[in-house]
Amino acid sequence: MSEKKRAVLSQEEYSRQSKYIEKCGDLVRVRYGDHWPPLALVHSYGCQQNVNDGEKIMGMLSQMGFGFTDDLNVADLILYNTCAVRENAEKKVFGFVGELSHYKARNGNLLIGLCGCMAQQEHISEKIKKSYPQVDFVFGTHALYRFPEIFYGALTQHKRIFDIENSDGVIAEGIPVRRLGKIQASLPIMYGCNNFCTYCVVPLVRGRERSRSSKDVLREAREIVASGYREIMLLGQNVNSYGKDLEDDLSFPELLRAINAIPGDFRIRFMTSHPKDCTKELIDTVAECEKICNHIHLPVQSGSDRILTEMNRHYTSEEYVSLIDYARDKIPDVMFSSDIIVGFPGEKYEDFCETVKLIKRVRYASLFTFIYSKRVGTKAAVMEDPVPASEKSKWFLELLEVQRKITNELYQNCIGRTYRVLVERTGDQDNHLLAGRTENNIIIDFEGDPSLVGQFVMVEIVSASNRSVRGRLVKK
Ligand code: SAH
Ligand code: SF4
Repeated sequence: MSEKKRAVLSQEEYSRQSKYIEKCGDLVRVRYGDHWPPLALVHSYGCQQNVNDGEKIMGMLSQMGFGFTDDLNVADLILYNTCAVRENAEKKVFGFVGELSHYKARNGNLLIGLCGCMAQQEHISEKIKKSYPQVDFVFGTHALYRFPEIFYGALTQHKRIFDIENSDGVIAEGIPVRRLGKIQASLPIMYGCNNFCTYCVVPLVRGRERSRSSKDVLREAREIVASGYREIMLLGQNVNSYGKDLEDDLSFPELLRAINAIPGDFRIRFMTSHPKDCTKELIDTVAECEKICNHIHLPVQSGSDRILTEMNRHYTSEEYVSLIDYARDKIPDVMFSSDIIVGFPGEKYEDFCETVKLIKRVRYASLFTFIYSKRVGTKAAVMEDPVPASEKSKWFLELLEVQRKITNELYQNCIGRTYRVLVERTGDQDNHLLAGRTENNIIIDFEGDPSLVGQFVMVEIVSASNRSVRGRLVKK
């Protein structure tokens, strides 16, 4: 397969980083030999893509000899893998990093690092440099594959390291992954984003769109299935444009069909699907492939065409709704979820009412709702934003109430129906209370033996509200 303008990490660079993993391993053995293995706390914030990056960092640390902990008191290395999508996420991280100075004071050997989307931004890196001396090393999303070299620097040089260089466009294959779950595995099929929605910082911190080759994706999908995972979540900021930067490779629907053809009892999910590129072919593929779940996350952001234009989303509410109608027609029992931004700059109450209207029309099973947050470097950051925060909060609560009723009604309608459920976990308090997910993404709590975790079972829904859905196990 010939591929156009793909910058895949060279074999030399890959070997260089592998050597750094070995060298770090040697240094770590000396540094922490008295309490082997040393423990790393790696905390990833934000989206599943970031969590997957965190799993790769853990994979590399694991090869250096690290074990893992959630306890700040016993950690030898603390690494916060950050999110920059909203200001709140950033504020939280600054709060946590601030507290780490106490841990550093108690344990002089402790290393502290910051990485991810927030770290990729220059103004943040500068702030860390000036005001957070407890942080030993900072690296951005583009430097992920260079983590072994950066960490080697942190172990050997007695100065702080800041690596936020933008190496836009490099795809690094072969980084070891230490997956956090045993049942669901995430599989990035592409990185970056070209869409430049005017509110969004993602294209600024994760660079331009680049797809992994289908050969690499399929190899990883086969490995995931062979390791016993029951669900694969395909990840990308806009999975519908998968392959557009590749020559003679598969499109997203073709990739889905190829993964669907891998033998085994497993499910396929994907996110995120941008409505402007969501085609009938994709919906037909979901309908025709038995392993692809009948749940579509299709973020609409707003129901007002004026605001959608201001957001640079490239679809109208009518086009969006007709996609939903097409999917409802083709995919039995399909459920939808979405992301909504309330209070985009210049949004008026009439615009907000259009969003409410659309939500009532589509009837999503669940919504991820956000109040607009101003992001440095985005187009919306310089737009006039006259509506006070208190007013936006009122709209936000109104939206939640509308959605609460819809979720409640949708779930009530499922009472008495039996679903095939993938058992994901036991209850926090009660080991015999299990939680599983239907194909169309309803989470059901039901009683059963903990040994069922990781298996597919049949569950009848017996009661439901917007908060929780209860069920009972039935024989297959
Ligand atoms: N690529 C995905 C999601 C990226 S970020 C997509 O296009 O849908 C996840 C969600 O965060 C977005 O869908 C949006 O609803 C929200 N978001 C992004 N930037 C935001 C901002 N500045 N303020 C509030 N919400 C934001
Ligand atoms: Fe952000 Fe839009 Fe890209 Fe999603 S599609 S990551 S919202 S710019």
